[in-house]
Amino acid sequence: MFVCIKKRHIVIAILLIGIILFSAIFATNYKTEYVYIVPNSKYLVLIDPGHGGIDGGCVGIETGVYESELNLTYSRNLASQLMNMGISAKLTRTDENGLYDESAKNLKKSDMKKRKEIIEQEVPTLVVSIHMNSYTLRSSHGAQTFYKNGNEKGKTLAMDIQSQLKSNLGYVRGEAQVGDYYIVNCTEIPSVLVECGFLSNQNEERLLIDKDYQDKVCYAIMCGIVKYLNEN
Ligand SMILES: [Zn+2]
Repeated sequence: MFVCIKKRHIVIAILLIGIILFSAIFATNYKTEYVYIVPNSKYLVLIDPGHGGIDGGCVGIETGVYESELNLTYSRNLASQLMNMGISAKLTRTDENGLYDESAKNLKKSDMKKRKEIIEQEVPTLVVSIHMNSYTLRSSHGAQTFYKNGNEKGKTLAMDIQSQLKSNLGYVRGEAQVGDYYIVNCTEIPSVLVECGFLSNQNEERLLIDKDYQDKVCYAIMCGIVKYLNEN
């Protein structure tokens, strides 16, 4: 009996050591809701989920899903995929709330200002802002990437992401384009805005809320980022 208990203790001790070792190995990469840090990563990608709080962005034509909600889902997915590739990532918006100061007169302005401050504070390698599109013409569909006019590195990054979206999704909405968006204009760091698809198109909305499709879109964006980082 005595020997038996001792054996059991040894087994438990071995199991505990195993669990501690296992945790130690996997704790080297740590993940919270908004920080996906890989030690010694040469790069930091700042992911910006568009909208939030009182600003829900555009709305799904069939399900009424808010763009702000999907932007956050996609941003977390992309951050996880980057971390798996050994690239650190952070999110500007970590929950459903906007980034504005509640007491500000102009909440949209306050929200955008905060996003700019985060870019300046983090000094990331690059910025990717995630959005969903909408248009009155319901047949409009496809993902598209935008960059700041005159930012050559931003243009290369946008083209790399757009070509990966094209090869992974089968179709996109044209080429990467110059876009007049605050998040790409407010910095000289390569910054792009990805419109993942149209919530005003019923078929595309069904895809955009589907987990497998979300994985596919984020995989394509991640591949575009990796291609850019390898070449720049
Ligand atoms: Zn948007």
